[in-house]
Amino acid sequence: MTSRSAGEHACGVCGQRYRTYRSMVSHTKVHEGLTMCPLCGRVSNNVPDLRKHLAQVHKLTAEQVLQIVPDRFSCATCGQVYRTPGSLSNHQDKHRGLTSCPLCGKVVSIVPSLRKHLRNVHQLSPDQILRLVPSRK
Ligand SMILES: [Zn+2]
Ligand SMILES: [Zn+2]
Ligand SMILES: [Zn+2]
Ligand SMILES: [Zn+2]
Repeated sequence: MTSRSAGEHACGVCGQRYRTYRSMVSHTKVHEGLTMCPLCGRVSNNVPDLRKHLAQVHKLTAEQVLQIVPDRFSCATCGQVYRTPGSLSNHQDKHRGLTSCPLCGKVVSIVPSLRKHLRNVHQLSPDQILRLVPSRK
């Protein structure tokens, strides 16, 4: 049933096939309603297209476009996209090296896991952990 020429990556919702995983994922935003213009209801193929549409058709400024279609939930370093600003900033700790264990070098995905790692693996006290992994702000 697989026709290789049409593209390897099929959308789980509508079955449309894409050559690359990336373009398939950017297509699935259509099904999440993330590419629909809130002003006229037009559905774009992907989020960058919607931004272009808002700027060109509705004459919105870059700032207004960003308010309607926020970009800040995608990681500038690796492109990973997150649903909330909180989970994105947790993820970015990893790029800042904040989630690697100072004792054994193990890299975990978020800071709370590193604290757990220090407690469980290295048997540190909460005081020692706080010194190694200070809370933000
Ligand atoms: Zn689809
Ligand atoms: Zn529109
Ligand atoms: Zn990242
Ligand atoms: Zn460790």
